[in-house]
Amino acid sequence: MPGKASMDSWLPIIGLEVHIELKTKSKMFCSCSADYFGHEPNTHVCPVCFGLPGALPVINKQAVEWTVKAGLALGCQAPLFSKFDRKNYFYPDLPKGYQISQYDLPLTQKGKVILEGKRKIGIRRVHLEEDTAKMVHFKKTTLLDFNRSGVPLMEIVTEPDIHSPQEAKSFLKKLQQIIRYLDISDCDMEKGSMRCEANISITKTKQLPEYKIEIKNLNSFRFTEKALAYEIERQKKLLKAGKKPPQETRGWDEVRQVTLPQRVKEGAADYRYFPEPDLPPIRWAKTEIQELREQLPELPDGKEVRFQKKYGLTPYQARILISNQEKADYFEEAVKVGKKHQLTAIKLANVIINKRVNIKQLLPAELVGILVKRKATPKLTGKELEKIVSQILKKNPRAVTDFQQGKAIAVEFLVGQVMRESKGRANPNQAREIIQKLLASYG
Ligand code: ZN
Ligand code: MN
Repeated sequence: MPGKASMDSWLPIIGLEVHIELKTKSKMFCSCSADYFGHEPNTHVCPVCFGLPGALPVINKQAVEWTVKAGLALGCQAPLFSKFDRKNYFYPDLPKGYQISQYDLPLTQKGKVILEGKRKIGIRRVHLEEDTAKMVHFKKTTLLDFNRSGVPLMEIVTEPDIHSPQEAKSFLKKLQQIIRYLDISDCDMEKGSMRCEANISITKTKQLPEYKIEIKNLNSFRFTEKALAYEIERQKKLLKAGKKPPQETRGWDEVRQVTLPQRVKEGAADYRYFPEPDLPPIRWAKTEIQELREQLPELPDGKEVRFQKKYGLTPYQARILISNQEKADYFEEAVKVGKKHQLTAIKLANVIINKRVNIKQLLPAELVGILVKRKATPKLTGKELEKIVSQILKKNPRAVTDFQQGKAIAVEFLVGQVMRESKGRANPNQAREIIQKLLASYG
C-alpha cells in the first residue's frame, strides 16, 4: 500500500463498482432494441421488459461473450460454469421485484488493471445483469420509461485497492479506454452508459476499517473525484471526534457540493439471492474461452510498449497515440504510407501530436502527402521573401494606411496575402517581421 499511515495521515480505502451498458443490438433477455438513448419513452418494450407475469427471458449470447471478453481483457479468469441469480428488492424501476444478476458464480473474476505502469488495482469480478427502467421526475410525479429496462449491463467490481480520488479517476479512465478498445460499449458517463459507485472508508492502520460508505450518483469523472475528496474530509472529522461513520448509502449532490445520506445500506442477505429458475446455467468448453481470448484486440498497455519499441517513440508520445484505437490506427497507417517517402515514424508522431491533426477530416495518406510536398518545396530565402512583401505592400495601400492609423490587425491581413502569394513557402513569422520592418520604414 502506498501512502504510509502515520500519526496524522489517514489512508483512504476505495473500491469501485462500475456499471457499463453493452451496445448489443437487442436487450439482455428479449429481442427489443437496446439502442434506447434519445428515443421516445416506452417504445422499445415488450412483456419481458415490463416484467409481466408469464414472460420468459432468453439469454443474449453476444452480451455473455462480450462480458467474458471484457473480463479476459482485465486479466480475469473465466470459469467454465456460471449462472444467473435473482437479486430481490423492491423499487418502482424494477417491476419484477428482482433484477436478474449474478451472485456467487460470475462470468469472470480475479483480474487486475495496472495504472501508470506500476499501481495494481485488483478486479474482484466482472458479471452480467440487466439494467432497470428509468425514473423521470416530472413536476410532482414520477414517470417510468422502460426503454432502458433489460439493456445488458456489465458490472465491474474492484478490490479496495484505490487510495485517492485521483487514483479512482485514473482507474475509471483506464477502464473506459480498455472497454472502448473492445468496442463493446460507448462508455459515456454523460449518457449513462458508464456509471460509477464507490465504497470508501479511511484508516490509520493497514487493516480494513469496520465500516464503509457507499456513494451513488457519480455521473462523471469529476464528480467521482470531488465526492470522494469530500467524503474523506467528512469521515476524518467524525473519526477524529471519536465517532464511527454509520454504514450507509450517500449520494453526491452537485449543486450543494456535498454527499447526503440516502438510505441504510442493505447487506447481501437482504437481497435473498437465489438461482434464476427461468434460465439455464452457462457452461463453456475450454476451447470456447480460448477462442474469445484470441479475438481480443491488442490492448492499450501492449500497444504502448510496442509503439515505443517498434517506432522509437517516447513513453509520452506512445501514451498519446494509443489513447484511442482510431488514433493508434491512424498513426500506424501514416507510418506505412510515410515509409515510401522517407518520412520517419517519429516525425509523423510529432506532427500528429503537436499539430493536433484532425484524424476525422484528414486521411493518413493526405497527411503524408502534405508533409512530402512541404519537404519538396524549398523555403524562400530572405531576399525572395522581402521582394514578395514589398509587392504585397504596394498592392494593398489600404492595409498600409490602416496600419499607420493604428490598426495593428492589418499586419495579419498582409501576412495572409504574403502566404498566398508565396504559395505557402514563406515562414509566417519571418514574413510578419519583414512586414513590420518595412512598414516602420514607410512611417
Ligand atoms: Zn423487451
Ligand atoms: Mn449491479
